[in-house]
Amino acid sequence: MPGIYIHIPFCKQKCHYCNFFSVASEKHRPFFVRALLNELDRGKDYLEDKNIRSVYFGGGTPSMLSVDEINRISGKINDHFVLSPDAEITLEANPDDLDNDKLKALKNETPVNRLSMGVQSFFDDDLVYLNRVHNGKQALSAIERTLKQGFTNLTIDLIYGIPSLTDKKWKENLAVFMEFGLPHLSAYALTVEPKTALSTLILKKKMQAVDEKQSIRHFKILLEETGKNDFIHYEISNFARQGHYSKHNSIYWLGGHYLGLGPSAHSFNGHSRQWNVSSMKLYTEADTVEKSVLEKEVLTTAQQYNEYVMTSLRTSWGCDSQHISNVFGESFLAHFKVSIRKFITGGEVQQNGNTYLLTEKGKLFADGIAAALFLV
Ligand code: SF4
Repeated sequence: MPGIYIHIPFCKQKCHYCNFFSVASEKHRPFFVRALLNELDRGKDYLEDKNIRSVYFGGGTPSMLSVDEINRISGKINDHFVLSPDAEITLEANPDDLDNDKLKALKNETPVNRLSMGVQSFFDDDLVYLNRVHNGKQALSAIERTLKQGFTNLTIDLIYGIPSLTDKKWKENLAVFMEFGLPHLSAYALTVEPKTALSTLILKKKMQAVDEKQSIRHFKILLEETGKNDFIHYEISNFARQGHYSKHNSIYWLGGHYLGLGPSAHSFNGHSRQWNVSSMKLYTEADTVEKSVLEKEVLTTAQQYNEYVMTSLRTSWGCDSQHISNVFGESFLAHFKVSIRKFITGGEVQQNGNTYLLTEKGKLFADGIAAALFLV
């Protein structure tokens, strides 16, 4: 069953490391929701299967939306699609947006049944380095309030490898997460993406550079602590208690179909991938002149194989050689088997029958291993 992704491209301020499309201005906001609703009308036939298992409000900062805006978007989704009874409706939220009134309204007046909170760290100096808008105290109290309002299906994001985040502080962040008893955690290594404020600040020596060895140490600590607390490491950056895997992200990782709406959002229906322009101005203007804001590519078999290898290898379901043979053919299978051999010998990949999984050592080099298996 497919999913729907809604990109809400507003942020109060831009975090230094962020390369997602978002703007720190609400100038286009009055036109944005109307453009999004019209895009939903236009995109209603993109997915063959109209039964939806997940709706994900991502961003940007979706918690800046009003309850009325969330309900107008959800209403339009209901006009064109059928939500499965156990559909997961996730809203990404920043701690500073979640006061009691907002939480109560989200819980009682909208279909949102899962929150994903961008905490990143409970320490103020890390949050200052990242240029987050909230502080550690706000993050703690937002989690407490969210749980009190009955939003128990709550996941948080944490970032490791921040230069100010010592090993001790990283362990403390994880300990605080565990104390709350939350069912899901996404933990990402801080990466310095080109064209971000962080990359410029590091180049100008105004910010401390990121140290890969520190990130590797933090990743090992992460695996130890989540393992001790019975979390399932089901994707390289994602950890869940049994039954709490993210339905939405699992669609991406298992090659499922999804419709993405809003500027910069991507869609995939099994045959083609398409994506919207990364510009608020062009996105909202195109709505009034009915100009296409989409770019589209039909995936070659080699691109589909590369995507399958890259995503499946990052998950606990692993890469299935039988699937490669059935879907892509014998020549792809032969290439896969030859190129993965050295990683099995080197202890980075473990083979169980037709399934190939990254070992703990391999998880440190997931992207490099996947790239070595690509067919170019
Ligand atoms: S809140 Fe999220 S989307 Fe917005 S700038 Fe920060 S990291 Fe990027």
